[in-house]
Amino acid sequence: MKTSDFLIKPNTKISLKDHPTDFTGSFKDKAEGAAALKEGVERLSKYQDILYAQNTYSLLLVFQAMDAAGKDSTIKHVMSGVNPQGCQVFSFKSPSSEERDHTYLWRNMKALPERGRIGIFNRSYYEEVLVVRVHPEFLQGQQLPEKLKKSKKIWQQRFEEINNFESYLSNNGTVILKFFLNVSKEEQKRRFLKRINRPDKNWKFSAADLKERQLWPKYMAAYEDMISNTSSKQAPWHIIPADNKWFMRWAVADIIANKLKSLKLAYPTLSPEQQARLSEAKEQLENEKD
Ligand code: ATP
Ligand code: MG
Repeated sequence: MKTSDFLIKPNTKISLKDHPTDFTGSFKDKAEGAAALKEGVERLSKYQDILYAQNTYSLLLVFQAMDAAGKDSTIKHVMSGVNPQGCQVFSFKSPSSEERDHTYLWRNMKALPERGRIGIFNRSYYEEVLVVRVHPEFLQGQQLPEKLKKSKKIWQQRFEEINNFESYLSNNGTVILKFFLNVSKEEQKRRFLKRINRPDKNWKFSAADLKERQLWPKYMAAYEDMISNTSSKQAPWHIIPADNKWFMRWAVADIIANKLKSLKLAYPTLSPEQQARLSEAKEQLENEKD
C-alpha cells in the first residue's frame, strides 16, 4: 500500500465519487494502523531535527476539509513527536476587518513558516475558492472592485494566483504539501451526533455547521474544481480517506515523512576553521582546573 496513490497529478480532472472515504488499505485493524502511525511520527521527528539544523527549507502543510473531518485531531497526532520549537499552527477563520482591508493572501503570507520550520495551515487561502464560492454573498461583501465581483473568471483567476504564489514559495525553498481530508456525509452526521451527545464535545458543535452541511453538493463541486486546478508538482494535493481517523493520521504522517526523506536533508558540516575552534573549546573544557 503506497500513500503516493493519494497524490493528485497536475492537470487531472478529479471526481470525488472516485475517491473512497472509508479506505483502510492493507491494515488488519485500528491497532495495526496506530502502530504504523507511531513509526511515522518517529520518522517525522528525526527529519524535523535535521530540517531545523539545516535551516534551508521550510515545510508548509495545508489542511482543508468539511467540518468534523478531523483536521484538528490529525494535526495533533501527526505532529505529536515533533519539537514544538520548530513547528507552528495557524487556523484561518472568517477574515477580520483588518484582514478584509488587504488582499486575500496577506494574512497567509504573514503566517508562513521560516526556514527550518514546519508551518501548518488549518484552513487557508483555499477558503477563498471554497466557502466564498459556495456563498456568493461573501464575495459581494468583500472590499473588491465591482468589476472583479461580477467577473465570471474570478475562480479561474484565483486558481492561477494561488498556483503562482505556491510556485514562488517552492522556488525559494518552501516545500508544500496539501491535504484534503475526505469524509463522507454519513460519517460527518455520526460525528456531529457525537458532539451533541457528549457534554465534553458540545463546545465543538455549532448550529452553523448544519447550514454548511446542507450545502454539501456545492462544497464537493468547489473542492473538485479546486483540486483539479491547483494540484501541481511543487504543491500537490492529496485526497485522504477520512472516515477512519486512525488510517487518515497514518497516511498524512507517512506522506510528510516520505517527502522530507526525498529532500535528502543533512546536518550542516563545519568548515576547517570551525572544526579547529571546536577542538580548542574541547581542550579548554577538558583542562579546566575547577
Ligand atoms: P472546528 O473543527 O473546530 O469547527 P473550524 O476550522 O471549522 O474548526 P470554525 O471557527 O468552526 O473553525 O470555522 C471557521 C470558519 O471560517 C469556517 O466556516 C470557514 O469556512 C470560515 N472561513 C475561513 N476562511 C474564510 C474566508 N476567507 N472567508 C470566509 N470565511 C472563511
Ligand atoms: Mg467548524
